[in-house]
Parts: sequence; structure tokens; C-alpha cells
Amino acid sequence: MLDLTEKTGSGKAAPAARPSLVGLSREKLAEALVAIGVPASQTRMRVAQLWHWLYIRGATDFGDMTSVSKTLRADLDRHYTLARPEIVSEQISEDGTRKWLFRFPSRGAGRPVEIETVYIPEEDRGTLCLSSQVGCTLSCTFCHTGTQKLVRNLTSEEIVGQILMARDRLDDYPGRFAQGTAGTPETGRLVSNIVMMGMGEPLYNFDNVKEALAIAADGDGIGLSKRRITLSTSGVVPMIPRTGAEMGVMLAISLHAVRDDLRDELVPLNRKYPIAELLDACRAYPGLSNSRRITFEYVMLKDVNDSLADARELVRLLRGIPAKINLIPFNPWPGSAYACSDWDQIERFAEVVNRAGYASPIRTPRGRDILAACGQLKSESERLKIRERMALEAMIAG
Ligand code: SAH
Ligand code: SF4
Repeated sequence: MLDLTEKTGSGKAAPAARPSLVGLSREKLAEALVAIGVPASQTRMRVAQLWHWLYIRGATDFGDMTSVSKTLRADLDRHYTLARPEIVSEQISEDGTRKWLFRFPSRGAGRPVEIETVYIPEEDRGTLCLSSQVGCTLSCTFCHTGTQKLVRNLTSEEIVGQILMARDRLDDYPGRFAQGTAGTPETGRLVSNIVMMGMGEPLYNFDNVKEALAIAADGDGIGLSKRRITLSTSGVVPMIPRTGAEMGVMLAISLHAVRDDLRDELVPLNRKYPIAELLDACRAYPGLSNSRRITFEYVMLKDVNDSLADARELVRLLRGIPAKINLIPFNPWPGSAYACSDWDQIERFAEVVNRAGYASPIRTPRGRDILAACGQLKSESERLKIRERMALEAMIAG
């Protein structure tokens, strides 16, 4: 594990006084321009220019926007900022996974908040795992984030800020690509995929997540195809139809159990929206096909949900839904009440699922040494005490 915190510096807090232009929809960006006196007849053109500088060139300073007149650059700088979150720490795992702890300035009467963002490089893609909330209201019993109370929703600016900051740190902007192009996932863009699988329940922060993902998918900017954007939910059933209709991104469902009594315990939201209702909402998700499937996440908990009878029931439940099943070895955290299933058992479970015709990749845990794996994220304000970290390291080594 490599800790680059000192080298990147913990920087000064971004000035909070001027509002940021990062993460605004085109409409809101136009309003922000009109508010500083840009004539309405010019806003379309100006928005297009700003969009290019913000999302293709990764500008962090209005002064760099050479296609924008000097007077307007100065006006923009007086009223707005392009500030990124402050980096509190940056860690690189032995396997190349990177984890950042970002701090956003306070909003209104609130305090500054801290969240984690993780980048996972693989051979054919680079996936950025974004947080949608500080903490989570849902208290799933196997999830570290769930032990942290919800502090607040992240704004669209803060969600997009995570993407821009990761791309800054990875040097994922033009200059790396053929002249005049912004690079695409196919030409080696480092951030080629986005998953809303960090801290928080994205469907409890619908409007901000929707606005941020629309920016990530915008073809004149970050330009990631919606097939490369996946939103994971613990099962907020009433918001699933709207996710399909208004965001149109790929869906992942944190299923984790095949019986309501057990899912009630593991994912307490199940008491409100039980398995049958959740799967009905999945069946109705628009645009499903063999090449556009729902991912069902299933965390492997030893002697809790990992029997072969569970595997058979899983297959039966998902019948008729174009599905991928993602088996996630449980990632331990200090104080967690569960153990990860034995590897043999995970393989036997996967075999039942495979035989029924489902791809069921076992997700290799990434970045465990820096607590960046699924369900291990938590804010700095709740950072592990040294004793807890030692206990965790012993657990991983064992
Ligand atoms: N709140 C959303 C998205 C964030 S969690 C959701 O629950 O879907 C991302 C994934 O990691 C979810 O599938 C979650 O169930 C899983 N996860 C949480 N804690 C875990 C742990 N300790 N080990 C492995 N996976 C975990
Ligand atoms: Fe929240 Fe998802 Fe963790 Fe459950 S698994 S506590 S919904 S972040």
C-alpha cells in the first residue's frame, strides 16, 4: 500500500463563498451566465464553450479558457469557481486500486464533509466508484458505510467533482490522446466506467444523482455511454421505474438473500419493499435484453446465505429476468459480525448459478489493503483507530 497523502498535500480548503459551475445542468449553467449579465442570445454558445473546457479539457481555472473573451473570463472568476474537492488522502493499493478521501466545504450551516471515491483499473476498463451520500440511512448489517449515520446528500456538483478530481489525479485528459480528441474508453481513457457503488443509497438522492449522471453521459463532455454507467440500489422499489425512464443507466440490485426473513435482517429496507416487489420492478425495467442485463449483487456470508439451496432458489427467483449475478466475497471490517464464505463454497455456489445459464463472476476483492473494497468505505471523521486497523490487517492476513 502506498500513501501519497503527504506528496499530494492536504491543500487549502476550496473557497466556499463563490458557487461552483461544476455539475450544473446546461440549463442551470445558462442561468448562472445570465445572472452575471451574459445576454440571453449568447448563452447557448457560451454554455457550449464552458462545457468543453470543463468536461473535455478539465480546466480548473477560468484563465485557461482561451476561447472565451478576457472580460468574460474575469467576470466568471469574480462570481464563480471551478474548485475541486480538497484531497485529504490518496492511497494506492498493491493491486493498483486507488482510494481518495475528499473533503467538500460546508454548505449553509453544515460542516465540511468527507467521502471516499475508489478507482479500480482492470485490463479492459477503469472503473470509478462514486459516493452519493455522506453515510447512509439504511444500516445493512454487513456494510461498513451502514454503521455511519447519514450526514447529508451530496450535490450534483460534488458527485461530478469526484469524477473530475479522479481524472485530474490520473491525468486522464487530452494530451494523453491523439491531438484534438478527448479520448474514448476504446482509445484508452482511464476512467471508462462509472458505478454508483460507493457510500450511500443513490436512489435516496435521486435528483442530484440524475443530474450528475446526465453530465457523465453527455456526448459533448465526459461522454460515457449509459451502458458504462451502473447504479446500484439496495432496493428502493418506488424509484426503480423512474431510474429506467429518467436516467436510463444500467441497474444493479443488492439482493444478498433469497428469503424475506433473512433479507429483512441483512438489508432492513426489505421490510418495506420485499423480494417479490423488488423483482417485479426489475422485470419491468425498460430496455432489458441479453446484452443489457440487470446485475444482482450477492455478498457471500459464511453459513448465512451461502448454501446450495440458496443458490438454487436464487436461480429460480431470477427466472425470466435478463440477469448477471455478481458474487461478492464478504469484505471484513472491524466489528463486523460476519465471515466470508470459504472459497470452495463460493465456487460450488457459482457452479449452480452457472449451470442455470447465468454468468456469475466472483468479484475479486480489490484494494482490501487500503479498505477500498465494497462495503469498507467510511468517512475520515470516522476513520479507523490504530487498534482497529491492526485488527483488520490481522483479519485480512489470516
Ligand atoms: N447503497 C447501494 C450502493 C452502495 S453499496 C447498495 O447498497 O446497493 C455497493 C455494494 O457493496 C452493494 O451491493 C453492497 O451490498 C455491497 N457491500 C456492502 N458491504 C459489503 C461488504 N462488507 N463486503 C462485500 N460487499 C459489500
Ligand atoms: Fe447503505 Fe448500500 Fe451500505 Fe446498505 S449496502 S448500508 S444501502 S451503502
